[in-house]
Amino acid sequence: MAHDLSRLSRAGTAVNVSFEFFPPKTSEMEASLWEAIQRLEPLQPTFVSVTYGAGGSTRERTHATVARIVRETALKPAAHLTCVAATRAEIDDVVRSYYDAGVRHIVALRGDPVSGIGGRFEAHPGGYETSTALVAGIRRLGDFEVTVSAYPEKHPESSTFDQDIDVLKAKVDAGATRAITQFFFDNAFYLRFLEKVRAKGINIPILPGIVPVQNFRQTASFARKTGASVPQWLADRFEGLEDDPATRRLIAAAVAAEQVLDLVDEGVTDFHFYTMNRADLVFAICHLLGVRAKAEEGAA
Ligand code: FAD
Repeated sequence: MAHDLSRLSRAGTAVNVSFEFFPPKTSEMEASLWEAIQRLEPLQPTFVSVTYGAGGSTRERTHATVARIVRETALKPAAHLTCVAATRAEIDDVVRSYYDAGVRHIVALRGDPVSGIGGRFEAHPGGYETSTALVAGIRRLGDFEVTVSAYPEKHPESSTFDQDIDVLKAKVDAGATRAITQFFFDNAFYLRFLEKVRAKGINIPILPGIVPVQNFRQTASFARKTGASVPQWLADRFEGLEDDPATRRLIAAAVAAEQVLDLVDEGVTDFHFYTMNRADLVFAICHLLGVRAKAEEGAA
């Protein structure tokens, strides 16, 4: 099927993008993260977000990365924050230090149990018990924009879709103004989810989280843990390419392009990309979506 990209320009509709990074562990990783940030910055994303390691393990590195983005770029960073392994007072201090560093956007999450994904979550003694409580706590502390997660295939711990969407509703009622979805490969999950969410009166933007598959095996294994399904057709596309990274990258670009163009056909105009700290695939997909570096504006 030909994708009707012309509808974007006909309707004068702009596509908005945002990018997610993770805090680097080594100086080499820091250098490649900054290369990616510098390559993507001219695309003028709505915001860029920086994740928070499981168990709060990257608290300082997340803060340092976000603070550097504020100091050295024109980007608007959002800092991820979880309820894990910290008291309310400790988390509130982290939030205040973000405010002092000029950050006004937090991605508020419950986080996974310290024992890892799949374990039973227990609130830290004196800590925020749920993501909803965290959203409310952040909103009390300052004038922050608060983004939350959403799960088109349901969070693995939720008993039903309805319960999952009730939790999203509670987060919105507590002050969340946007949601980003867990990644998915079958757009039907996202579109059905969106219908259910709207039917429950949730009207905030629900950005589809798009993951360009840099490494199929890793992505598939992560997907299994987070409850995102990996369709057989996707596995088939990467089959036999284990030792052929160049072809894998072309396939990854084609798969992600197909996914976002399908979503554009469905009227989606805002996309969140899990960059894995690499710019090239995401830059190419943004180009396809008509998102151009500012310097190119007005070019033929
Ligand atoms: P929540 O919305 O809090 O839901 C978690 C579970 O608790 C659901 O099953 C829900 O039904 C249940 N629940 C919530 N409230 C109630 C209630 N009142 N009663 C009964 N059940 C309830 N993890 C990190 O460690 N660091 C990150 O930076 C990070 N970034 C993420 C970004 C995005 C966009 C997404 C989608 C996930 C991210 N995660 C991150 C993963 C996330 O922390 C885990 O998926 C975690 O298991 C759930 O946290 P949550 O805030 O997404 O879910």
